[in-house]
Amino acid sequence: MSNFLKILISITSFYCTKNIAQAQHTSIRGIVLNSKTDEKVGWFYAQILPSNKNFIFTKGIFKIDSLTKDDTAIVFMADVYFNTIINLAAINSNADSIRITLTPGCKYDLHKTDKFCDKCKTKKYVIPIEYGLLVSLRGPSEKRKKESHPGGCEVSDCQANWYCKKCKTEF
Ligand SMILES: [Zn+2]
Repeated sequence: MSNFLKILISITSFYCTKNIAQAQHTSIRGIVLNSKTDEKVGWFYAQILPSNKNFIFTKGIFKIDSLTKDDTAIVFMADVYFNTIINLAAINSNADSIRITLTPGCKYDLHKTDKFCDKCKTKKYVIPIEYGLLVSLRGPSEKRKKESHPGGCEVSDCQANWYCKKCKTEF
């Protein structure tokens, strides 16, 4: 066998072995950070695909020891964050720890259709918040059909939907 062929075979087998190793993670660990603040995400879920096995973690760190060769990806989820999905084949199996970032969404969206006040444990005192120029839209003589809390003139992508009259909290 020529030296050239020997080298070619060793290079090929090196890469093939490496690829197989990369595709077969048995365990994985790392940290989960808020992409905007770089702070650790307090608690979050990890869901293995396609088996849908779920794990809950706290303090921004995770360790999963039960990965099989059928597992292809992990979805990281946390309240008020957008999901992040990682492809296991794309992660170097030699990596000691991986870094996941979650992008925060709007915290008020969790309560969009739910007017329950978490502080008072009731929805009895909760009224909707209305944004915009209420007076000019309605006219001074028009009676208010239902009670609402003025949220101001500014309208943004992320704003409170409800106001609790008892604890004076917007959520
Ligand atoms: Zn309340």
